[in-house]
Amino acid sequence: MQARADDLRRDGVVIALVPTMGFLHDGHLALLREGRARCDELVLSIFVNPTQFGEGEDLDRYPRDEAGDLDKAQRCGVDTVFAPDAGSMYEPGYQTYVSVRHLSEPLCGARRPGHFDGVASVVTKLLNICKPQVAVFGEKDYQQLAVIRRMVIDLSIDVEVVRYPIVREPDGLALSSRNRYLSDSERASATCLFQGLEAARNLAHTGERDAAKLVTACREVIEREPEARIDYVELRDATTLETVDRLEPGAQVVLALAVFFSDTRLIDNARLSTK
Ligand code: AMP
Repeated sequence: MQARADDLRRDGVVIALVPTMGFLHDGHLALLREGRARCDELVLSIFVNPTQFGEGEDLDRYPRDEAGDLDKAQRCGVDTVFAPDAGSMYEPGYQTYVSVRHLSEPLCGARRPGHFDGVASVVTKLLNICKPQVAVFGEKDYQQLAVIRRMVIDLSIDVEVVRYPIVREPDGLALSSRNRYLSDSERASATCLFQGLEAARNLAHTGERDAAKLVTACREVIEREPEARIDYVELRDATTLETVDRLEPGAQVVLALAVFFSDTRLIDNARLSTK
């Protein structure tokens, strides 16, 4: 892949990379179309990265569908699929990790120790291997995007990070490969994530500024679903991810949440504003 990227860049070709863990859905495909419009050579990476999974998480059962992914990739105009195996990404003796300190600490980072070190490290490797000028990431994984944007600035990585809005089902559920773990009744209940975010957003639009009240409005909607177990709901500064007590006019804030249905952990988020 590195040799191919070198050849392409020598010929002046613009490369865009869309990193994924596969089992592609319409959210991934939207990222691919965004990438397609910004490059000559569209590279899709598929790698279920073991170092971003914790003990007892779903690494072993993470859904995979290589044939389906290749078919979808072709239909989105992907030129190259880079799908390494774990052994070639992490050869014996591997010991280097990238750590984006503060942005990795709260929210999902607090519940999944080491997760964002795994993410930052593998994205660094993927950028070094695929050598894209453009890389596309989804806002669905809001903290991940914040970590990667910071890392690219801090390490002077020569790539443009493009952010893509959350793609949702018609009923509001954010598309995720993990949605396939949900039972029918959990799938029906899972719309409460979006509805909770909407409740907080609507309350903000009516003039509520108190972070605790906005968070409570969201929690109450989710807590009405007996199968939903809240991991966290937090209002944070959209860039630094620091806590905010009040939604000040003009401030950029994000309401981020994680909710379990049985063992399945879903995440979602929304930007909130005063109008
Ligand atoms: P994953 O395969 O889950 O690691 O996701 C690969 C990329 O797709 C990440 O940049 C995600 O943020 C993005 N992504 C996943 N789901 C969605 C979605 N529903 N809308 C937009 N982007 C998404």
